[in-house]
Amino acid sequence: MKPTTIIHLKRGKEESLQRFHPWIFSGAVHHIEGNPQEGDIVDVLAADGQFLARGHWQIGSIAVRVLTFEDRPIDLAFWTERLSAALDTRRSVGVYGRPDNDMFRLVHGEGDFLPGLVIDIYGRTAVMQAHSVGMHLCRQQLVEALTSLMAERLDAVYYKSETTLPFKASLGQENGFLFGQSKGDVARENGLLFHIDWLKGQKTGFFVDQRDNRSLLEQYSRGRNVLNMFCYTGGFSVYALRGGAHKVTSVDSSAKAIELVNANVELNFPADERHDAVAEDAFKFLSEMKHPYDLIILDPPAFAKHKDALKNALRGYTKLNAKALEKIQPGGILFTFSCSQAVSKDQFRMAVFTAAALSHRRVRILHQLHQPADHPINIYHPEGEYLKGLVLYVE
Ligand code: SAH
Repeated sequence: MKPTTIIHLKRGKEESLQRFHPWIFSGAVHHIEGNPQEGDIVDVLAADGQFLARGHWQIGSIAVRVLTFEDRPIDLAFWTERLSAALDTRRSVGVYGRPDNDMFRLVHGEGDFLPGLVIDIYGRTAVMQAHSVGMHLCRQQLVEALTSLMAERLDAVYYKSETTLPFKASLGQENGFLFGQSKGDVARENGLLFHIDWLKGQKTGFFVDQRDNRSLLEQYSRGRNVLNMFCYTGGFSVYALRGGAHKVTSVDSSAKAIELVNANVELNFPADERHDAVAEDAFKFLSEMKHPYDLIILDPPAFAKHKDALKNALRGYTKLNAKALEKIQPGGILFTFSCSQAVSKDQFRMAVFTAAALSHRRVRILHQLHQPADHPINIYHPEGEYLKGLVLYVE
């Protein structure tokens, strides 16, 4: 389909596109030829009329999310090529096609040159999430491309965009299967089993982005008393148990999360008395805790969803880390994370630095952590970097 709408940019505003940045801000638009509806495919031209890009039209500060810098149709062949490239990347980074690991992120938005789209694979089910109206409108073609590429390996595609699409677009969107039905809810990560609740769980059902960091935690767990704060489905807890932890306590304010962590521990280590789980607010638990923990994980939800919440978010990270640093046993290890995109690596490190200073403990950085290879960052789109973490040694 050839777009009928043409976006003409102001003079000089073509530069970021020539560097392959995939967003066009509304302030860069000089005038529009046609009457685009949100989600339409549009062409973008420089002031001198030169073709620059083709992408999805949006209402808001980002006006266009670029799908291609080439003059080519956006059709089934286009989606098939992009998804096939995403699969090849997952194969080459070693998360796809392994008997002990069948869950991974297949599409990470701009990081896979598919802005506005997320696809996570859990065993034989794909969970697809649109973050733009344009991707929502292309969902059927995306499913067609995906199911033909992964034919032997997929039973179902579940579409979960109720909460990620712009509410004002009034699409009457409902979550549901676009292809097949799931035959089970268990998937495998590095040889460990997890129930994945893609119907009701947060995001697409599981946080696959912590896979490598969980493996590192496993290596530190032997003989330690582990506290997994903000445990959700208990990924870190299950790895700690396999790593030989002496005791593991999982904490989350949501009772549903506590059910999930208990089910996942049971699935891997039935009746293992080393584990217990508590439904409690993290700050309250840390203030009142009596048990001596020498390995603590802090993996809270994003404290800053937007730039304007940044200051409070940084204060939140400082307060949380200060509490853990105060309480951790001498010789303890703290795994601390931020998944807020609005918080930079340096800002997070500064917040943790302040916490260390407040706690009067001697603290050293052992590892600096980040998102795994199946969450790639398009080098022209540094905004795609969101997960950061530090492993600290606390004397
Ligand atoms: N560490 C998890 C992901 C954490 S998601 C993993 O590896 O999968 C964030 C979790 O924090 C959610 O489950 C949410 O219920 C919980 N949460 C949010 N606010 C909280 C609070 N104040 N105290 C404890 N848990 C909280």
